[in-house]
Amino acid sequence: MAESGSQVKVLIVEDNPLNMRLIEMTLRTGGYHLLRAADGEDALAMARKEKPSLIIMDIQLPGMSGLEVTRLLRRSPEFAGTPIIALTAYAMKGDETRFLEAGCSAYVPKPIDIRKFPKLVADMLSRGSGGG
Ligand code: MN
Repeated sequence: MAESGSQVKVLIVEDNPLNMRLIEMTLRTGGYHLLRAADGEDALAMARKEKPSLIIMDIQLPGMSGLEVTRLLRRSPEFAGTPIIALTAYAMKGDETRFLEAGCSAYVPKPIDIRKFPKLVADMLSRGSGGG
């Protein structure tokens, strides 16, 4: 039996299946329990049900945007301190401020750097669980 209960849960919110697979691949060695959502509604439902330790949030989603999802999550005390890493296909000047104001902890432009990304996730998880 898989011991998913003892694993750190990471929720990936991404509507593009190829990007989803790439992100999963970069995180495979981390031993995380990976959860997936393809749109904002899914993401909110999954987050509330599973209470992930970290969320990777694509900004360009069908329907509700990743920023809207992030804002909604941040309104709830249980997600006040959850690291949320925003992913965006294009970032313009000023966007970073917008992402951080919406409640994103960090933002990564696509295509993600497959060597740096797992380290960022690990760093954010250790920061998030540090307490205090
Ligand atoms: Mn997208």
